[in-house]
Amino acid sequence: MVKSKDRATSSVASRRAVLKRLRDEEIEHILFWFTDLEGHLKSFAVTPFEMEGALDDGMGFDGSSITGFNAIEESDMVAIPDPATFQVMPRPIDEHGHEIGAKVARLICDVVKPDGTPYEGDPRFVLRAALDRMQGLGFDAFNVGPELEYFLFEDDNDTKTLDEGGYFAMTAQDAATEVRNDTIHALESVGIPIEYHHHEVAPSQHEIDMRYADALAMADHTITYRMIVKEVAAWHGYYATFMPKPLFGENGSGMHTHMSLFKNGRNQFFDSKDPHHLSEAAKSFIAGLLVHAREMSAVLAQWVNSYKRLVPGFEAPVYVAWSQRNRSALIRIPLYKPGAEQATRAEIRCPDPACNPYLAFAALLHAGLEGIERGYQLPDEMTTNLYRLSEAERDERGIVALPGSLGEAAEELAGSELMQRALGEHIFPRYVELKRREWNEYRIQVSEWEKQRYLSAL
Ligand code: GLU
Ligand code: MG
Repeated sequence: MVKSKDRATSSVASRRAVLKRLRDEEIEHILFWFTDLEGHLKSFAVTPFEMEGALDDGMGFDGSSITGFNAIEESDMVAIPDPATFQVMPRPIDEHGHEIGAKVARLICDVVKPDGTPYEGDPRFVLRAALDRMQGLGFDAFNVGPELEYFLFEDDNDTKTLDEGGYFAMTAQDAATEVRNDTIHALESVGIPIEYHHHEVAPSQHEIDMRYADALAMADHTITYRMIVKEVAAWHGYYATFMPKPLFGENGSGMHTHMSLFKNGRNQFFDSKDPHHLSEAAKSFIAGLLVHAREMSAVLAQWVNSYKRLVPGFEAPVYVAWSQRNRSALIRIPLYKPGAEQATRAEIRCPDPACNPYLAFAALLHAGLEGIERGYQLPDEMTTNLYRLSEAERDERGIVALPGSLGEAAEELAGSELMQRALGEHIFPRYVELKRREWNEYRIQVSEWEKQRYLSAL
């Protein structure tokens, strides 16, 4: 059962600071954000006049039409804004360099029931509960750095690319460089520091990497990132998508996620004496990720389309193994650089950027903590290219594959006691049901491929 004592308990001073900024910056509307089960951003607008009360007591809303929330009978919900998440949203610029459009701010919310207790259907609550478990085990921060990849297309009707692209491409063809630069400015303007950005391998594919942060702040950053990437693309007349595999025969979009546990500002994954510079905690954490990888797959890669990405040949992982260099493994340990103790971390490569980041980070944390709590042993490093091993060789080494489809992933999830604990009694059955339904809907379609392959031949 998920049991987290608290939602954000904000201070009077932080609420006052928000009110002051609303006045000083002449904000016209304040957006209250949260996500549904699948991580779709939900938002409603509050006027400045209502804000004092809204900051103290939250704003009521009807949750009945939010995916995964309660149906009609118990649909009254309250969104409590977290003052620490206050940001003024970027605005488009006209040809004279002036910002246009309404001045809007946003706050990310915890969802509670009318009696003020946390709502178990709120993905942010699920992540808070995972962080509580972590604290119980003596750590104080789960630091994550997700690398979200995305495509820019001419519009959302088709997949017309803007360039031929290529990894790190810097040519005149890279028509989207300006869009990417504007996106980075917009992200930084809402308090999301950027470390790295480049054209990715596929045509029209990009990556902008945020500086790591603790999981709750990073999940908030991730939903904001997706919104801003789409928004800035739209200002330029393009469409940005986080669909995991939009183009057949090209790389898909991943969200490789770097992870470490900290205590008193020190990285608990680092051990100078270990050949890989990994502590016992790090090794058990990674073992936990491997043991539970198949069970949490439906949370990290949650769509039918996600499994079109997780196939051999496109730099996405298929096999459950770890390695220091080998990018075909599910988990990679980035090479240690002397003096970079704080950067010792594990990178998991199966998540995609269309996940619900609150649930994904919670699932990863629970899997890793399970490994620590139960003292899981890390299997040997896989040094060979896993795609080159035969099935018999993989069996011999005990290497399993990730689920091959959403249907398989949903059944793995359904049987997972750990994921039931991680997602809680409200979300777990609803999420399983949602994913089974999605799979069944897809399963009965007759595709173009089938018509071409069978119609004239059978
Ligand atoms: N786009 C690849 C994926 O689907 C990853 C490419 C890379 O950044 O290594 O995971
Ligand atoms: Mg990449």
